Amino acid sequence: MSSFSWYGHRQFVYLVSISTEGFDYDKTVEYIPHNYIETRKYTEFYSTEPIFDYLKIDELKNQNLENLHFLIENHKNLADIGSKVPVWKVLTLYTSFPDNGMDFGIVDDETTKKILSVAKFFGIEYLTTFRHGKIKYNVFEALNGDESFAYYFELSRYAQSKNDKYWQIRFLSYALHYAMDLFQPYHIKIGEPLEVMQIIWNKEMINYLTNCHELYDSYLYFLLTESKHASQVRELVLNSKPLFVSGEPLQVAREIVIYSYVNFDEIHRTIKSTFGTDLTGNLKNFPPNFFVSFENSGKLEELYAKSLPIIEMMSKVLKGIIILNLK
Ligand SMILES: [Zn+2]
Repeated sequence: MSSFSWYGHRQFVYLVSISTEGFDYDKTVEYIPHNYIETRKYTEFYSTEPIFDYLKIDELKNQNLENLHFLIENHKNLADIGSKVPVWKVLTLYTSFPDNGMDFGIVDDETTKKILSVAKFFGIEYLTTFRHGKIKYNVFEALNGDESFAYYFELSRYAQSKNDKYWQIRFLSYALHYAMDLFQPYHIKIGEPLEVMQIIWNKEMINYLTNCHELYDSYLYFLLTESKHASQVRELVLNSKPLFVSGEPLQVAREIVIYSYVNFDEIHRTIKSTFGTDLTGNLKNFPPNFFVSFENSGKLEELYAKSLPIIEMMSKVLKGIIILNLK
């Protein structure tokens, strides 16, 4: 039930923001202090300060929050321009903010609370981001990534109604984070039902499924950055047309959940058959160079083919969400 975020949030939103028709990404906005009553609980890591807005390229490099080289290389005018900030920068930099601890460990829904108390009984402790996924097995559901998306989308709309352009974009940036998380199949299912049942008596299974999740997070990032297909993948994002999912924000999130629910089995099966024993043992990290030899020997073709439609759909839906938000 661990839910690591995937590492490509910023890079992905950057590509989407510069290629969404009608979205004036170079327009500048001015920070005004947060003046919203939020109903959501946060940890001490939640900040409403303009922490990223005025960072220059060198300072961004030192943030060490995530690999920023891709952004820096692609947009050289990151430096200050008075007190105004380009919209793309707010949208892009804050989209990874929800992974910096602002809701670590906070549980909102009763089902998750119950599961955690059972897990604790078996000596399993979780400290993770329950608001970033939506676990679904048939009618059983837990976690509330869908509500997280809707919460920030509504706040963004509200900011727009107050003509607060800055917070409209910044809340939208948070909303996009949760939408992207819901596109990661491991944020919807953590394993096959039989594997999940084994978690209770087989701790190695927790490591195994967590490694699958972590590996796919890293692989999506690898596709955008260091893969031999990276330029094609970026082109795919840039050229995708917006898709408008109808309904209220919560309904939009639910549609994404169903999409990932359907994708899970194929992705999970492919990851298991491709990486075999690399997934067993202790918890692991999978840095981008982990994938290079697999890719060069042709072993990633199936996973690549199955991931492209997900990336394309994610681009389309994110563009649709941005356009919808502007209206
Ligand atoms: Zn996340």
